[in-house]
Amino acid sequence: MFCLLNGNLVRQESAFIPVNDLTLRRGYGLFDFFRVKDNTCLYLQDHADRLFTGIRGLNLVINQDKNTLIQQIQQLVEANNLKGASGIRIVVTGGSSPDGFTPSEANIIITQERFSEPNPLLYENGTSIISLEYRRELATFKSVNYMNAVYMAPEMKRQGATEILYHFWGAVSECTRSNVFCISNDILYTPVSDILHGITRKRVLEIASGIMEVRAEDFSLQFLKEADEVFITSTIKRILPVSRIDHSPVSDGNVGQVTRKLMYLLQKRDQEYSPK
Ligand code: PLP
Repeated sequence: MFCLLNGNLVRQESAFIPVNDLTLRRGYGLFDFFRVKDNTCLYLQDHADRLFTGIRGLNLVINQDKNTLIQQIQQLVEANNLKGASGIRIVVTGGSSPDGFTPSEANIIITQERFSEPNPLLYENGTSIISLEYRRELATFKSVNYMNAVYMAPEMKRQGATEILYHFWGAVSECTRSNVFCISNDILYTPVSDILHGITRKRVLEIASGIMEVRAEDFSLQFLKEADEVFITSTIKRILPVSRIDHSPVSDGNVGQVTRKLMYLLQKRDQEYSPK
């Protein structure tokens, strides 16, 4: 499998970065991830925009422009020519840092990886999530630091859940690797504070605002638990219905009608996607 290291197409096993890179030393760096289907990169422009907003926000140092990066990614996808579900991961590091604190020119590592789609039964029956009082640091950036998510993964699995829902100071924010939505009295809600602005969240908001009232605003864990329907969204999961929170059923425990409709509309949007 090929990857790109600072714009050069190389085999993954021969791609290396310096040991004093700030991403290795301090967890200071960014990434983004998007789907590839039949060599088409899904919503690549949105992901590239988010990445470059993050690069500027975190003062990472790169001398590549967005369009060159996009062209290089297309070359990588053609070189690998993978069939089935795969994704591209772009990591932009803090760069070699002799003092361990000051970013220098980033290493840009772009890899393509296969993944398995979530179990289809979860879409039929809904999934289970558990809550945790926690606040992600610099949550609007897709930082490489997923310390808590990785650390808590065994406990999450032990409890039969597929996601951990973060809440802090009385407000729900998001899950470890997805955004959260709920439907209450026919209104769609999604939090705004301490979240990563997911590209799937953006798509769902676009689709939903054509068919129902949408409120992007913060709400409590109690409000979520009492909602009529709950679902989570991400590049890999798309819309995944939630049927249990902290081991108690959401509403009657079945996947709701509005969630099903949004799942259908998002799938349609994904299928119709073609790069501009
Ligand atoms: N929030 C966090 C913390 C994430 O890591 C992710 C995706 O990995 C998301 C939300 C969903 O974002 P997207 O829809 O762009 O995949």
